[in-house]
Amino acid sequence: MFGNVQFRKCQMTDIKKNSKPRNREYIRVATASKLLAGYFHANGKNLKGSSVVGCGRWKAYGKNPNLAEIVVDESGARMHGHFRCGSVWTCDHCARARVAQTRSWIRGALIPAIESRGLNASMLTFTMAHTYGECWIEFMKKLHLAYKLFDKRMSRIFEKIGVLGKLKTLEVPVGKNGIHGHFHSLLIHAAGIDISAFEEIARAAWHRAVIAVGGNCNEHGFDLKSNAVADYLAKQEISHEMASHGTKSAKSKGLLLGQLLDKAALGDSKASAEWIRAIEALQGRARFHAGDIAKKLAIPNCTEWEVEEKNDNVSDEVNTVIPQSTEISYSIDKHLKATASDHPRPGLALILRTARSGCPKRVLAVVDALCDEYDAYKWKSAVTPSQRLEARMFMERGKDLNFG
Ligand SMILES: [Zn+2]
Repeated sequence: MFGNVQFRKCQMTDIKKNSKPRNREYIRVATASKLLAGYFHANGKNLKGSSVVGCGRWKAYGKNPNLAEIVVDESGARMHGHFRCGSVWTCDHCARARVAQTRSWIRGALIPAIESRGLNASMLTFTMAHTYGECWIEFMKKLHLAYKLFDKRMSRIFEKIGVLGKLKTLEVPVGKNGIHGHFHSLLIHAAGIDISAFEEIARAAWHRAVIAVGGNCNEHGFDLKSNAVADYLAKQEISHEMASHGTKSAKSKGLLLGQLLDKAALGDSKASAEWIRAIEALQGRARFHAGDIAKKLAIPNCTEWEVEEKNDNVSDEVNTVIPQSTEISYSIDKHLKATASDHPRPGLALILRTARSGCPKRVLAVVDALCDEYDAYKWKSAVTPSQRLEARMFMERGKDLNFG
């Protein structure tokens, strides 16, 4: 209980019970922000992806800078006109959106183009041996170098089998052997080729490339599946938990970055350290790479593709109902305080969950309670006289401006 508002469940520690992805997403955003803010304090520099601290908090350029704005409609509650960080590794919200966009593009643009041209698609998987104790940054560097070398050396073979393009995804679960970085590459090529001959050449080329960069790999370092668009889509789903990740073989590969954040939020310091270590190794690395595949197939670019959110199961009857939306707004100062990266609670998750009720009064009560709690937290944790002065000033600010 805090003020007049009782926070049901949504503590950082309630993730297990509270497993709805919509809440989990913003709890992960809050946890990532906390870890990255901690990294900055310890090291005096920001990691790439640190702008997740402002995702859904700061206002976007050109929008009313004084108001926090929420839109509630049939698809749920979301911040409106706020900054989106676009970080594919650190921000669960933006990564989820990017994965959804890529999947939608594969289904809506890529597959029809492959089918209409009578082409085929094979999925190639590449990885290398790795250990927990080795430098994860070095490992990721070698993996990328090996792929580059493989790609260059294979260019004539690719030409021979009529390769039109590749869609490459990087995945980075973390397991007992450290960061398990691997690529899935969807190779679009001519139909009717001798795929097993190609597989043999590609496997040998990958092994040679890995050795050339100082790495090593066994027979699990390379895999090929033909006619694999559906498998590729399934991989994408698993990569962001849009499908079950609970199978034994998936678990043995380690935890996804989001799952590490779930553990970190529960106070698991090993998971927190592993997450930071993985983010350090991913600095500047792309998650998806489509090259010029869109141009070659004369289809729209993946990054420009609109996600069709429409559910195929929605009946016509439901479709005829005009969607109603509610707008809820309040002071941006309060929003920033209620969602501060060092707040003991995941403010954004709590606010948006309350907003789904569509009741502005309830949202404002939660925002106020979060602000009061933050003030009390800052006051309690202030030790030196200057910290106490700062905490006092912070508490008074906003109160003075709000006579209502
Ligand atoms: Zn974001």
